[in-house]
Amino acid sequence: MSDIQTPNRRIQALQAILWRLQSEKIPNKVQDDIDNALQHLEAISQLLVSGEEHSRLAALYRVSQVLGTSLDLDEVLHQVMDAVIGLTGAERGFLMLVEKVTDELVVRVGRNMEQETLQREEMEYSRTVIRTVLNSGTGVVTTNAQEDPRFSEQESVISLALRSILCAPLRARGLVIGVIYVDNRAQAGLFTEADLEMLNAFASQAAAAIENARLYTRTDQSLAARVEELESLARFARELNLHERVDEVVATTQKWALEGTHADQVWIAMLGKESEGKRITVAIGPGVGEELNRDHPLLKPVLDGNTPHVFEPTGDAPARLVVPIMGVRAPTGIMVAESAEVFPSEDLQFLVRLANQAAVAFGKVRVYERVEDSKLEKAQFISVVAHELRIPMTSIMGYTDLLKKGTLGEVNEQQLNFLTVIRENVGRMSTLISDLSDIYKVESGRLRLEPMPVPMRAMVERTLETLPEELLKKDQKFSVHVAEDLPRVQGDPTRVEQVLKCLIDNASRYSPENSEIEIRGRIVGDFIQTSIRDQGLGISMEDQAQLFTQFFRSERSEVREEQGWGLGLSVVKNLVELMGGEVGFESELDKGSTFWFNLPMIEVGKPVTSS
Ligand code: ADP
Repeated sequence: MSDIQTPNRRIQALQAILWRLQSEKIPNKVQDDIDNALQHLEAISQLLVSGEEHSRLAALYRVSQVLGTSLDLDEVLHQVMDAVIGLTGAERGFLMLVEKVTDELVVRVGRNMEQETLQREEMEYSRTVIRTVLNSGTGVVTTNAQEDPRFSEQESVISLALRSILCAPLRARGLVIGVIYVDNRAQAGLFTEADLEMLNAFASQAAAAIENARLYTRTDQSLAARVEELESLARFARELNLHERVDEVVATTQKWALEGTHADQVWIAMLGKESEGKRITVAIGPGVGEELNRDHPLLKPVLDGNTPHVFEPTGDAPARLVVPIMGVRAPTGIMVAESAEVFPSEDLQFLVRLANQAAVAFGKVRVYERVEDSKLEKAQFISVVAHELRIPMTSIMGYTDLLKKGTLGEVNEQQLNFLTVIRENVGRMSTLISDLSDIYKVESGRLRLEPMPVPMRAMVERTLETLPEELLKKDQKFSVHVAEDLPRVQGDPTRVEQVLKCLIDNASRYSPENSEIEIRGRIVGDFIQTSIRDQGLGISMEDQAQLFTQFFRSERSEVREEQGWGLGLSVVKNLVELMGGEVGFESELDKGSTFWFNLPMIEVGKPVTSS
């Protein structure tokens, strides 16, 4: 209250001089004058005090208004400190808060009169005064600590030459949450009881504002932490979704566990399938491949109860969080996080959530692996059957052809008809088996290609030469527009021929007699595009949507008249894509279709790469 205090203190000083004069031997007249003067001074002083009171309240009101405008704890603390310095006219001030976790009193703000932040070495204060305030819960004012019997003996008071000290508790919800402390080292009598009263009033408002900001910061932080955790779990789930193998899921889970907790190390052990004797093997982390016993002290409590366990650090052993990765009934894995320091409780919660996500991924990956296994088994089965069938079928076809030609003796018309039916059906079976075998080989990744430069023109000509007899009978015109010098494609010649054969066969089969089929070759970017255009049935929009899927055949009677399995296009697509190309088509119902495929072009001098 510097503006009011100074005149009042001057009056007090004047009064003190007059009182001293009164005790001197002075004439009565002068004594009367002194009495008179003292009375006036007292009246002025009273007036000033009441004005001072008014000013105090006004100042208090002003600073109180600022409080509560911010929810940022640091900002609130600085506002409080600046207000206190302004209100008391103190030389320095400190705001200290009791830390919740350690229960220690920590200086949060230190300011001098110029509102500059105090340096660490300037942060010296009377601990006795503060302890008194903390213990009693009431404020303290001392006009001259050097002479105050409560504090004069104290080391800090002496060494720091502290004189005026004012200290009030910060109380919120019945608890002392800290103190406001102001002092003046040189000047005695700076603070009065009225100052303490004002500081007390201010402190209760300040404490409420501080608590609000603290609460808000805590809520804000915990909310931000929750959002962050949810976001990271969502990212984790997305990453897991991309995996198809157990080892990938294990690695991602370990990575996220390390990132999201305070762990120095994370290891994951997987429980083998029932058929494998439920062995527990370390899948990632130190000791990879090591087999663990179910009675392992870290695993047993988790395996027995299927619940997470917290192991406190003991001696050399680090703190550990052991979390089961639960399958449908029993754990499929166990995740262990280790840290030199005790884990905060959020880490356990995070790991449990992570383990739940990982469990879903493991389930999915295991199903995927089973599907892949069964695909492989099926492919193996089909290739064995195909191999076993191919030999007898080849001989049946060979002998039928011989019989039909009459090489082995004359055949009558009926016999010829029977032989034709046999030949066609065995041919169909042979195509079916080799198509199926190809599809499963592609799907199980067992189809081997032998890429080399392939001249497209020669391929087309060869295919046309081997056109089946029944198609040749249709008297269709095959016009080939594939330049002799068209750059070669990179592909497996047997497979390129297979693709061409299927597309040319289809064009012919699904087109009327005497119609024209055009085969063209051209350069499209880095590819050679080969297209086969017919003037046939065309394909409805509805059917177009299903083209290239296995076993799809149009319901149209004209299509059904032709023998087929609906596997040809699916094989074509697989083969072309395996050779690095693309398939497509355009079609108009009852007008005709154009099927095309692109294969990588080999530029002159470009080396052939093998896959
Ligand atoms: P398949 O010819 O043995 O039925 P594909 O996979 O080769 O098997 O063909 C699938 C279906 O696509 C055929 O049944 C037919 O409905 C349609 N299709 C294929 N090529 C043509 C074409 N050039 N013109 C009209 N329809 C076609």
